[in-house]
Formats: sequence, structure tokens, C-alpha cells
Amino acid sequence: MSVSPPHRAGKGCKSVSILGATGSIGQNTVDLIARAPDRFDVHAVTARRNVRKLADIALKVKARFAVIADPTHYSELKRLLAGSGIDVGAGDHAVVEAAGRPADWVMGAIVGAAGLKPSLAVIRRGACLALANKETLVCAGDLVMAEVARHHAVLLPVDSEHSAIFQVFDFNHPERVSRILLTASGGPFRRFKRDEMAHVTPQQALAHPNWSMGAKISVDSATMMNKGLELIEAAHLFPVPEELIDILVHPQSVVHGMVEYKDGSVLAQMGSPDMRTPIAYSLAWPERMACPAPKPDFATIGALTFEAPDPERFPSLRLARDALKAGGSAPAVLNAANEQAVGAFLKGALRFLDIADCVAHCLNAIAVQPLQDVDAVTHIDQRARSEARAFIESKQ
Ligand code: NDP
Repeated sequence: MSVSPPHRAGKGCKSVSILGATGSIGQNTVDLIARAPDRFDVHAVTARRNVRKLADIALKVKARFAVIADPTHYSELKRLLAGSGIDVGAGDHAVVEAAGRPADWVMGAIVGAAGLKPSLAVIRRGACLALANKETLVCAGDLVMAEVARHHAVLLPVDSEHSAIFQVFDFNHPERVSRILLTASGGPFRRFKRDEMAHVTPQQALAHPNWSMGAKISVDSATMMNKGLELIEAAHLFPVPEELIDILVHPQSVVHGMVEYKDGSVLAQMGSPDMRTPIAYSLAWPERMACPAPKPDFATIGALTFEAPDPERFPSLRLARDALKAGGSAPAVLNAANEQAVGAFLKGALRFLDIADCVAHCLNAIAVQPLQDVDAVTHIDQRARSEARAFIESKQ
């Protein structure tokens, strides 16, 4: 073990870790932390295989532990950090170890179901998990929320919609809430007809009109599966029945979420489409901190518009709601099939409209079963991925 770098922890200094530090959310988190170095003491940073960026980030924030999930990059990471005093680890188990390091606050910004075990490692030590990795709640929401309660952990939503709702939801009186509204930009194909969507390319799907995000969530936004995943996420985070959670297309992405109360009042949270705002909210919670994200200029924005989503052109919305209603393993199957299909689409091995068909196929092929523990989640996740791979091959 090498010696840890100089430790800045002082009075009022929050100890933090960033899982998925090299991604879009991870780098926005690093940006905020690097602007306030006296307020944060960084324990661990992780990535999958982007070893150079990880090393740069580890040095920039003076982390004590840097982990690369793909072990083939271990020696490269070791070489890049030689003499820095930063401990180096590799492999999935090391990512979980990083999550287990004693940081008060951990950003969960790994993409996909790979975030589940690290998320649980944070929760099980009763720490504060700022959760961007919505797939954790989609594939194992009941298990995760039970662990949060058992270990008195704090779960802070980072998804802009859930952060918005978290800020205006009356947790002391959930019975006063009549509706939760998740807003959606509608993605790059909001105005496309189904036959126009048949031939869209990954490049078109990645060109989100408002947000700059990682590849997987950008494609999820284009299919609107992102909103489906967020519906499931919201059902776990907020104590209201599924039928009280609605989706509303709002192309300007200024209103991020709304809570309607029984007296007709609707409380909304607004902000620019810049993830640094919800990240800063979770980083400073229960206080607030300065954030460089631009403040919305309402005179320039001019109009805020809303429209109902179209489930015919975006069938992922219905698939996600049906999976949420079915419960048990269905959301985990939906998530795993979607991850496989999006990965294949990005590689040019599946057409855009086949993504939702692949998810529907897997949901039909795999009977719903209860998920008692993480092993059961892993098992169903692998089963759904193998079913999805067979579907994808059948399309080639
Ligand atoms: P990115 O693809 O940009 O980044 C993902 C991060 O996770 C990278 O650091 C990546 O490392 C790492 N990673 C990927 N696969 C693995 C793995 N198997 N094991 C360990 N680490 C892994 O994603 P985003 O930042 O866009 O999204 C992260 C999460 O946040 C997603 O769940 C997304 O839905 C959610 N989210 C994102 C928003 C956004 O604006 N981007 C908004 C709201 C939610 P490497 O770089 O080495 O590949």
C-alpha cells in the first residue's frame, strides 16, 4: 500500500467519493468539487476503462484511491499515478471497495445495472448516496429502499426531475399530494413520425436538443425509455401510488418536476438544463452552495410549453409502466433488455425501433418472479441479457 496524499479534511469539510467519475455526471461533480477544494476531501474516484481521464481526475481532486473497473488497465493506471501517493485498484470488487471507503457522501454515477452493488455498499454503511444511477432503483428498487431504511442511509436523487420533486414534495404529508409530474424534453425525435424513426442513426439519437449527457441516457431520451425508467425510479423514491405519477413533455427543459396538491396548488422546481444544479443541490444538502450553471433567463426563454406524450410513437413509456405495475422481476428485465438493445443500437447492430421491440420481447419471454436478494437480481439480469442478445441476433 502506498502512502495517502496530504489530507485536507478540516472543520466543515465533507468527505466524498465519485463512482463513475469520468462520465458526464462524474465530470460535472468533479467540476463543482474542484471549484471548492477546501469544502471537500475526496476519498475515491472510479471509472470503467477511461484510464487517462481517471488518472487526471484523481490528481486534480487529490483523491486517495483510484479504481478502474476493467482490470486490463490496472498497470496503466498504476504507471500514471506512480509517485502520487494515490492507492490504485482494479476490477468490479475494487469499485465496491471504493464505495465502501468512509466518505460521508458518494456520487453514484456509474451507468447501468453495474451501479447496483456499489450503490448498496454505500447504503449499507449508512452514508449519503447521491444517486444519478437510476438503473439501481429500476432493477432492485424494493431491495434498495429496504436497505436504505435498515441502515438509516440517506438517498438523494440527482436525476433533475427527481431532485426537483424532492425539493417540493411534502414528505410529512404525502396524503396531501394528488399528482407528481415528471417532465420530459421529448428528445431529438419528438416531432418524428414512426416511419421516420425507423432509419435514424446513433449520431442523430445522441444529438439531444437540450442536455449534454452520456451515450446510453441520450439514446434512452430519444426512445423516451429514460422517462419510463424515471417513472419507476419516482415510484420508489416518493410515497405515492404509481397511478399518481404522470409524464408531461416540456421541450424547453426549464421546469424539471412538479408536485400537485389536493387543493390545486402545483409546486414546480425550475432551472437551466445543466446537471450541475441538481448535483450541487445533493452535494450541499441540506444547505445550498454556489453553482456556475447559468440561471434561467425567463425573458429570453419567453414561453414554457407542455404537451401529453405520445405512447404510440414512444412505446417504451407503456412498457415501463406495465413493468412497474407487474413488479417483481419485470423492471429488472426491462432494464437489462434495454441496456443490451441500446448497446447494440450504438454499435449499429440494431435499428432504433427494435430497441423497444427487444424490451417487449424479453418482458413477454420471462415470467415475472419475486426478487428476494441481489443474487436473484443478478440472475434475472443475466437471463434478460441473454434473451435480448438472441433477439438482436435474430434481427441481423
Ligand atoms: P456516462 O456514460 O457519461 O458515464 C458513465 C460512468 O460510469 C463512466 O465513468 C464510466 O467509466 C463508468 N462505467 C460505465 N460502465 C461501468 C461499469 N460496468 N463498471 C464501473 N463503471 C462503469 O454516463 P452519464 O454520466 O451520462 O450517466 C451516469 C448515470 O447517471 C446513468 O445512470 C444515467 O442514467 C444517470 N443520469 C445522467 C444524466 C446526465 O445528464 N448525463 C442525467 C440524469 C441521470 P468510463 O468513462 O471509463 O467508461
